[in-house]
Amino acid sequence: MAHLSPQLKQATPVVATHGEGVYLYDESGNRHLDFTAGIGVTSTGHCHPKVVEAAQRQVGQLIHGQYTTIMHQPLQQLTAKLGEVLPAGLESLFFANSGSEAAEAALRLARQATGRPNIVVFQGGFHGRTVAAASMTTSGTKFKAGFSPLMSGVVVSAFPNPSTYRNLGWDLDQVTDFALQQLDLVLQTQSSPADTAAFLVEPVLGEGGYVPGNERFFAGLRERADKHGILLVVDEVQTGFGRTGKFWGMDHFRGAENPLTPDIQMLAKGIASGFPISGIAARTEVMEEAWPGSQGGTYGANAVACAAALATLDVIAEEDLVANADARGEQLREALRRIAADYPQIVDVRGLGLMVGVELADADGRPDTATAAALQQAAAQRGLLLLTCGPWTEVVRFIPALVVTEQQVDDAAEIFADAV
Ligand code: PLP
Repeated sequence: MAHLSPQLKQATPVVATHGEGVYLYDESGNRHLDFTAGIGVTSTGHCHPKVVEAAQRQVGQLIHGQYTTIMHQPLQQLTAKLGEVLPAGLESLFFANSGSEAAEAALRLARQATGRPNIVVFQGGFHGRTVAAASMTTSGTKFKAGFSPLMSGVVVSAFPNPSTYRNLGWDLDQVTDFALQQLDLVLQTQSSPADTAAFLVEPVLGEGGYVPGNERFFAGLRERADKHGILLVVDEVQTGFGRTGKFWGMDHFRGAENPLTPDIQMLAKGIASGFPISGIAARTEVMEEAWPGSQGGTYGANAVACAAALATLDVIAEEDLVANADARGEQLREALRRIAADYPQIVDVRGLGLMVGVELADADGRPDTATAAALQQAAAQRGLLLLTCGPWTEVVRFIPALVVTEQQVDDAAEIFADAV
């Protein structure tokens, strides 16, 4: 009998029949509060009526229009719409289907545009599972185990961890300066600027444990990139489209004086409420220095996915979901901090917007993978679906749809307290 690969073992026992907003329903009619959102994908909730309507309409008009053969209207409209929300200067777009493909596209473009081989990535980063994307990923050994030989030309540098828990008592500026010094050392000893095509970084480490970066660090990256002609590639796959309580994750760190504009920005996940579409946005000169190249693909920018993305962007604006993500994230972190006060194994509650992580450690301060898994299971048994992340999967993460209400956050906190 055919069965799924054991590598696709599900984190929760749910066999879903349908979803609505922040809820999933299973075969027995049980309702589950879904704080996983398909790993941060169903930004407007499951089956938002406007997204459903847009996709259904598009299915009746044109499902697939291969984009190096013809242009189609939804792609034209989505390109224009993204121009309204992307950081100024990122005007040249390429589309694919998954975050990993966006990472591949960014890598190809950075190498083509600079003629340099190496990519500097950061400790704890996650960029996907294709061979190239896994090569650029450092957030856990499981993403690479048994897949060698991986791609060459990847060099790892430090990422500042603002959690005082693991910082030997250093403050954030000291930790950040240390990370930047490490980067300088990498450029001196492991990957000279003349060989470095790009820095590839997430605004908030996602799979790496929901660790936000900071303004000083990103300003340091931008400065070094400018100085050496290295491209700054920002992976907004998980942090984009309102997830962090600002439209882009990097919006937390940029200011009028320092726009921190990436040279290439990756997009996926929350863009289309669950339809597979991803992309990169680049400065026109960068994209044009690389053409004529051979980016492309059969399925990129599927017409139905483009229509769903357009509807998603409308819903995000109409329902003020970015502000909601900010407020509900704050509410959730406060509730989790109250729970943590009576539970010493929770050593840190952190995140931005609705990317919220709770780190578990044992009495000796070691990452507590078992307790994180036990909490995830205990919550699932009580009707709250959660994920884990972090290098040792020692972090329980909360990543609900951006439409989550105050009441639903209270409900989730109550269930989690009971699970604890
Ligand atoms: N980049 C980041 C920051 C991610 O969080 C992910 C997925 O979790 C990816 C890239 C890879 O995306 P996908 O799983 O769609 O290939």
